[in-house]
Amino acid sequence: MSSVPTYRFAPTPNGALHIGHAYSALMNVRFAAAAEGRLLLRIEDLDPTRCKREFETAIVDDLVWLGVAFADPPRRQSEHAEDYASALDALRARGLVYPCFCTRSMVVEANAGRDPDGAPRYGGACRNLAARGVDARLAAGERAVWRLDSAAARLAVPDELVWREWGEGDRETSQNADPSLWGDFVLRGRDSAASYHLAVVVDDALQGVTDVVRGRDLFAATAAHRLLQALLALPAPRYRHHRLALDAGGAKMTKSAGATPLRKLRAEGLSAQALKIALGFAVGKTRLKVELS
Ligand code: GLU
Repeated sequence: MSSVPTYRFAPTPNGALHIGHAYSALMNVRFAAAAEGRLLLRIEDLDPTRCKREFETAIVDDLVWLGVAFADPPRRQSEHAEDYASALDALRARGLVYPCFCTRSMVVEANAGRDPDGAPRYGGACRNLAARGVDARLAAGERAVWRLDSAAARLAVPDELVWREWGEGDRETSQNADPSLWGDFVLRGRDSAASYHLAVVVDDALQGVTDVVRGRDLFAATAAHRLLQALLALPAPRYRHHRLALDAGGAKMTKSAGATPLRKLRAEGLSAQALKIALGFAVGKTRLKVELS
């Protein structure tokens, strides 16, 4: 692991940044500065249908406006498919992944519960298909996603799977990681070089990230990340899952639910200083109010 404390802000360029992203970026700045560390930018653009270069450009522009500076040029996930492929190959060589031919509706119909994000969990229909049949289907060009055999994977790592969590404070707690909540989660989709879970652990390791500061919405995902780190013999960063900005209705701000983009607030005259005051990163007066939870 790198000796310099290394943080990263890792937006997905599938839309505009909102106040919740500003909070996350500023949290990274705060903790990186306190640790005399460096802050890196990672562009998580693996979903070719939803990610666009113009969103990336707008994100970088918003971050400059906010005064967030990065140590190096950004790492763009779409440019590193081979890194994810070699991680997947390593797991494949150990028999811990399998191709799954099920459609989305087949996964829903199998009714195997929900993962922590509320998405249908996979029931395992393709887990034990005969190898010869699988090879023939792949050779015939049938498209598949690659899933982790999570029960086999769990047996392949030490009994105790934990992570070090600091939240927003200065006290470390040890969190039990239960990756079974995610079932046989996807490592590579039909149209992307890697799933979020695989890409994030590979990139955190390759970028030498020692400290992951991100929203509480990703708390549960850390169990899947710790399992992959243990399987791939990657270092375990420290984690800080911070509060989320709420919208006017008290729900988590999301792009999909139409959270007001920072760009729009900027156009309406919001200053970076006022936003920092509202989010607790600067002292002063502003009429902007932001609820965090
Ligand atoms: N790309 C993710 C997002 O925009 C963040 C991933 C992470 O910080 O691990 O929500």
